[in-house]
Amino acid sequence: MAVSFPIPSYFTAIFIISRLMSIIGISKHWNNKLLPPLDNITDKLSLDPSAIESASQDFGHIVKSIPKAVLQPSSIVDIASLINFSYNSSIPFTIAAKGHGHSVRGQAMASDGVVVNMTSMKKYRNGTGIWVSNDGVYADVGGEQLWIDVLNATLKHGVAPVSWTDYLYLTVGGTLSNGGISGQSFRYGPQISNVYEMDVITGKAEIVTCSPNKNSELFYAALGGLGQFGIITRARIPLEPAPKRVKWIRMLYNDFTAFTRDQELLISINGRHDSHALDYLEGSLLMDHGSPDNWRSSFFPPKHHPKITSSITNHRIIYCLEVVKHYDDQTQNTVDKELEQLLKGLSYMPGFMFEKDVLYAEFLNRVLRGELKARSEGLWDVPHPWLNLFIPKSQIEGFNDGVFKGIVLERNITTGPVLVYPMNRKKWDDRMSAVIPDEEIFYTVGFLHSSGFDDWEAFDDQNKEILKFCEDAGIGVKQYLPHFTSKDEWVHHFGSKWETFQQRKFQFDPKMILSPGQRIFNNN
Ligand code: FAD
Repeated sequence: MAVSFPIPSYFTAIFIISRLMSIIGISKHWNNKLLPPLDNITDKLSLDPSAIESASQDFGHIVKSIPKAVLQPSSIVDIASLINFSYNSSIPFTIAAKGHGHSVRGQAMASDGVVVNMTSMKKYRNGTGIWVSNDGVYADVGGEQLWIDVLNATLKHGVAPVSWTDYLYLTVGGTLSNGGISGQSFRYGPQISNVYEMDVITGKAEIVTCSPNKNSELFYAALGGLGQFGIITRARIPLEPAPKRVKWIRMLYNDFTAFTRDQELLISINGRHDSHALDYLEGSLLMDHGSPDNWRSSFFPPKHHPKITSSITNHRIIYCLEVVKHYDDQTQNTVDKELEQLLKGLSYMPGFMFEKDVLYAEFLNRVLRGELKARSEGLWDVPHPWLNLFIPKSQIEGFNDGVFKGIVLERNITTGPVLVYPMNRKKWDDRMSAVIPDEEIFYTVGFLHSSGFDDWEAFDDQNKEILKFCEDAGIGVKQYLPHFTSKDEWVHHFGSKWETFQQRKFQFDPKMILSPGQRIFNNN
């Protein structure tokens, strides 16, 4: 929440600066003459308890870290000034960009440091922060912008980005710092594979424009870089003509081998401009916990619930393959034929294919309905002990046997969505910081648990058991949205990429100022 100072006087400014300096223990040393002095941002530095409280929490509701202050920036110079001040202090303080705070393990927090509330930048850049090029080929988007706003702004021009997350109330800077994956990733790659250029403020307070051709080391470092190298203030995102509507299909399987075989067959048609390819493919588990729908999406027509439920009761786990094909005025007469062709010969259970026809924007924003429902039931602002994994294709059968049919059924506590769908490694760029398995096809599995405030540890125990099982069985999993508490675990996570990751940290944030909540370089 933005805090305004009723009488922004000289004394208020001096009070806040000296309080911040004395709390954080920094000197008044000021080096970068190109940036305005810190006094210029004192009215944007908040010590207000409600701002501090909000910066101490995230969607996970598991970790709490209290910062000394919150910056409510209104320009990139404000952010650069803050970083510059820390960088030139005898004892630098940590700084975390907070996008929409949808991390689940304190990744956007800064214990005893300063949290930069990126959303207070939303009014920057001509009042919108989203600018679509005249030819509609790209959009320049503030790092603080939500993807839902990017969607709405670009649709006004008849265009849209091609790679999304399932949920759109996440910031551009937040997802680009991780990966940004969804059912489009098999074909277009994650969101980090769909960026032309960025502006990044490094840990040395340098404001740098970077791209594959210009300052490329910083460009690749920041993509999937967990906020370690700089704060992304602008990203240039490629756009394509937006479809009008989508055919949205779910097919149910009781056989995991058939389910993954069909998923892999469908993602083998993946050319960016191949009109025969699907536009989206995901998968999930249905287990015996009431309705086959969950907070993440409601899809199945109520009249079919009894037959789906009885199938789940019989098999204990049903696998749901979900696909989408876009269409517009030109393709509305051919889309059904295309789909029929694509889905011909698949091995889903006869009679268990369900179809919807919705607006493109409604499909992309499908999780919102679930959010509103969960909110109305008081089930949104609760702990979220999530676990997201990438699993090599060669190990996914073993994962199904040991984890889905073993641990998950055995413990019988999983009620939230469990996602499982494959991606193509070639759609990722190995120069980026993001870490994925070595195999050409790998699966993402997401356990998206919601819990009560008292029982989240039971889910965390299950997560630990899953990780332990994978380790013992030699399943080379990589965590997505990783959470580790020791440096050794991070070194293991990055594997052959660790040296480069560390080197880039020394280069772009040598004083270890940025994103301390990831606990990679600030893990004591
Ligand atoms: P925050 O949580 O605010 O920040 C995350 C990290 O990025 C922190 O380290 C922070 O310091 C850093 N950071 C934030 N902004 C910037 C910036 N501008 N520059 C540099 N670093 C920055 N992910 C997917 O890939 N696909 C999904 O489908 C998906 N669905 C989700 C659904 C829900 C309901 C939730 C809660 C999360 C989902 N996520 C998904 C995960 C999400 O992408 C990440 O948690 C992401 O980091 C959230 O963005 P945020 O803006 O809330 O980031």
